[in-house]
Amino acid sequence: MQQQTPRPERLPVRYLQVTAVRRLSPHLARITFGGPGLAGFRLDGPDQQVKLYFPRHGQRAPRLPEPSADGDLMRWYQAFRTIPEDERPWMRSYTVRAHHPGDGTIDIDFVLHSTDTARGPATRWAHRAAPGDTLGMFGPSAYFARPVPLGTADWMLLAGDESALPAIGTLAEWLPEGARAVAYIEVPDAADEQTFDTRGDLTVHWLHRGTGPGPAPGTGPAGPGERLVEAVRGARFPVGSVFAWLAGEAGAVRALRRHLVEDRGLGRRDIDFTGYWRRALTQDDAPTEADLADARERSADAR
Ligand SMILES: Cc1cc2nc3c(=O)[nH]c(=O)nc-3n(C[C@H](O)[C@H](O)[C@H](O)COP(=O)(O)OP(=O)(O)OC[C@H]3O[C@@H](n4cnc5c(N)ncnc54)[C@H](O)[C@@H]3O)c2cc1C
Repeated sequence: MQQQTPRPERLPVRYLQVTAVRRLSPHLARITFGGPGLAGFRLDGPDQQVKLYFPRHGQRAPRLPEPSADGDLMRWYQAFRTIPEDERPWMRSYTVRAHHPGDGTIDIDFVLHSTDTARGPATRWAHRAAPGDTLGMFGPSAYFARPVPLGTADWMLLAGDESALPAIGTLAEWLPEGARAVAYIEVPDAADEQTFDTRGDLTVHWLHRGTGPGPAPGTGPAGPGERLVEAVRGARFPVGSVFAWLAGEAGAVRALRRHLVEDRGLGRRDIDFTGYWRRALTQDDAPTEADLADARERSADAR
């Protein structure tokens, strides 16, 4: 019998239309997307990241190259890079919070961070999003998926800030029956807390950065990640083996990982860590030395 040549996978590049916008809490908006671009969409697990493409000023939709039939990612990306800079969409990473196969929609939760001048293009877009607006999306894709082992260790540590809430929400929903997990989540204040649907045995410790003046005269709110790192450092961990999942501001994630490896003796492969954003740097800025070291360690840990 003649062997069939496997058909190349089409790259998961799509256009999405906003169908609804809902303010979940003071600093989070849930944006629902639909449209024909989501035909055949599937979510095969939790913590599924996607790249979103935001239109430049004056564009109704972001300009994206048509993927070639052979599914060649590098060729597509090169075509993307040749779009003149002032027309090339801004690209940012987000997490698919939920898929609703019944009506063919997905939810993505956007943190509404920073003041007007410091906001990046994704957050500016999310502030003004309205039904009918169009974004581009790449993914979910095996190119950047990192499957999280759920229920394999005696318990799971989840630690992150509000940008990690969507991913933590999906991890909670995919926890196997009775699987133990302890989450430390830093949010601006109590109004940004959420409840999670889970079959697991999940305990959540909420930490508030504070949005107003601090307790002592002349003090302000805590810096991003400070309360999170402090809480995990001081935590009494359950006994048994642990798998840790860390995401949020890159410096805080780095400090947490260092603590888990150096002070708690976790193996590097028992930690999944991702810096989701960097203080005073945008996702377009070049990686710092520390970012490059993180990337090297992530790929070494994956081997
Ligand atoms: C795998 C992955 C999944 C992610 N999933 C989500 C998600 O589901 N929802 C979500 O909201 N974010 C998510 N993020 C984080 C998001 O990609 C970044 O916050 C991104 O920088 C936002 O883009 P921007 O255009 O608003 O800001 P940028 O142009 O990148 O940055 C502009 C300024 O805003 C600051 N900034 C950026 N993000 C934050 C923040 N969260 N809090 C405070 N200040 C910030 C930067 O320091 C910079 O000074 C994810 C990141 C990764 C890597």
